[in-house]
Amino acid sequence: MDIKKDLLTINSYSRPGTKLSKVTKIAVHYVGNPGSTAQANRNYFESLKEGKCNSSGQLIYASSHYIVGLDGEILQCIPEMEISYATNQANLYSISIECCHPAADGKFTVATERALVVLCADLCQRYKLDPLKDIIRHYDVTKKVCPKYYVDHPEAYEDFRQRVRSLMVIEIDTTMDVVRRHGDCYTVAMKCVDKPVIYPGTEKVVTVCPPYPYGGGWRANIVAINQAGSSTGIYTRLPDQDKTDGVLRFEFKIT
Ligand SMILES: [Zn+2]
Repeated sequence: MDIKKDLLTINSYSRPGTKLSKVTKIAVHYVGNPGSTAQANRNYFESLKEGKCNSSGQLIYASSHYIVGLDGEILQCIPEMEISYATNQANLYSISIECCHPAADGKFTVATERALVVLCADLCQRYKLDPLKDIIRHYDVTKKVCPKYYVDHPEAYEDFRQRVRSLMVIEIDTTMDVVRRHGDCYTVAMKCVDKPVIYPGTEKVVTVCPPYPYGGGWRANIVAINQAGSSTGIYTRLPDQDKTDGVLRFEFKIT
């Protein structure tokens, strides 16, 4: 997953710089401007810093943490630890994602939706959120028809959230350190739908065998191959992510 950082300048109208104290929701939006690019929408947010008014003469406050473009490219406009101006009262506890769309019906391209799924799965894993509960539409907060296609087609919205859930390693059977002797094995159990990607942070400390389905989830054997005193973090990542984007699950120590 490639995210291009193109942060807005700190200003009162699109990036107030206010700390986001907690993240309990991911809010999905559509830009409402058919055919516009991620970059054009980012530049629009940046242009608000001068203090622009709408047709009724009111100052415009608008922005988003992320914008997903028509080809699935992702722009980050605001750091995750700051609030955005996207989702009204939910700004105080949510990370917002705007999505571009080719036509007025607001339907996302396959590439846009795919990138949105991966981005949401990554955020849900990092903030320990449940996609079926904690991914919300702008509509759920204010009844604004946004993102339009997911409001007009609730089944497409449900399908999208299920896809996010399928990608995630929702739960792993330990968060505590695992301690094993040289040559011994730990079988880790993971609650997830798709085959997980699990790997050590440091090479040659353990061997992580390919995961196999077990009891509705997945398991993988981790064998301690290095000498006593060595250790490594055990990570999971999404299929589209780099190793460096993985989530640390637990420490594996050899005694
Ligand atoms: Zn919206």
